[in-house]
Amino acid sequence: MSSNNILKCLIIGSGPAGYTAAIYAARADLKPVLYTGMTPGGQLTETTEVDNFPGYPKGITGPEMMEDLKAQAERFGTDVRFGMVTKADLKSDPKKVWIDDTIEISANTIIVSTGASAKWLGLENETRLRMNAGGVSACAVCDGFFFKGQEVAIVGAGDTAAEEATYLAKLCKKVYMIVRRSEMRASKAMQHRVLNTPNIEILWDSATEDVLGEKAVEGIIVKNFKTGESKKIIVTGFFVAIGHKPNTDIFKGQLDMDELGYIQVVPGSTKTNIKGVFAVGDAADKVYRQAVTAAGTGCMGALDAERYLADIGIH
Ligand code: NDP
Repeated sequence: MSSNNILKCLIIGSGPAGYTAAIYAARADLKPVLYTGMTPGGQLTETTEVDNFPGYPKGITGPEMMEDLKAQAERFGTDVRFGMVTKADLKSDPKKVWIDDTIEISANTIIVSTGASAKWLGLENETRLRMNAGGVSACAVCDGFFFKGQEVAIVGAGDTAAEEATYLAKLCKKVYMIVRRSEMRASKAMQHRVLNTPNIEILWDSATEDVLGEKAVEGIIVKNFKTGESKKIIVTGFFVAIGHKPNTDIFKGQLDMDELGYIQVVPGSTKTNIKGVFAVGDAADKVYRQAVTAAGTGCMGALDAERYLADIGIH
């Protein structure tokens, strides 16, 4: 604490960006407190193998990597706490946030590393089956295994959908890819891969109208915009890969954001429009969105926070 129980550095979020910020902030003696959010470890805990994070030549699972990052942050004294920041007053001095609507925390600097979340179609039965682990997923790599030898559908036409469709095609008997336009957004190379995978059938100009099944997915209703026809397709797994939404709603009206809700930072830094508030990781990055780039900006956030504290005379 800097004074009167005011934290020198509060970190919100526990993905690679948050934990890397914590490692640097703790080693700089900022005594950081990190709130994990509802998914400690962030999006990487929903993946299996991570092969592209430097330093793991044999690859590592997402959950194991996040445990390693957490342990490293704690080794230098980061106070890691489970809890969700539900409200923030970033313009007050010191800045204030509320954890789970009750506990009030004051801090001189805040590093926002709240990441991004998968988008869903918003269909009632999609939500119900997703909540009940009934075969609706936004992560083919995490859940594809459960549908080995079965027929599944995936919605989306970006690089994620293309990558996940080809991943699923290796495990599943058949993959229906539901594309809402007559072309894909994915890179040419990814499109080529999809088009050359014999057990992927693309349903162009189509939208999912409903997901069928009481306890588990039994099929979907797909409508073709051109013919106006709706048909039932029997599948046991339903994957959604239509992009992500940054977890920044609680900062709206305070932090400058783009039209999608990604926090805007001063180029080449993690500085936001509010002095002492820094944004790192996927909450401020819609372009790269990699664990290693998130970790890199996490480091920058801690260094920016340290310099800001020195400038205002807090040591
Ligand atoms: P994108 O935003 O690029 O693509 C989302 C896709 O979902 C689009 O095809 C979009 O359709 C479709 N979509 C959106 N909403 C709906 C809806 N309600 N119903 C049906 N379809 C919908 O997201 P991605 O996650 O694919 O990619 C995000 C970023 O990450 C991109 O920059 C991508 O290049 C990158 N990426 C790179 C990878 C790699 O290089 N290996 C792997 C994965 C991602 P429409 O096209 O009609 O808008």
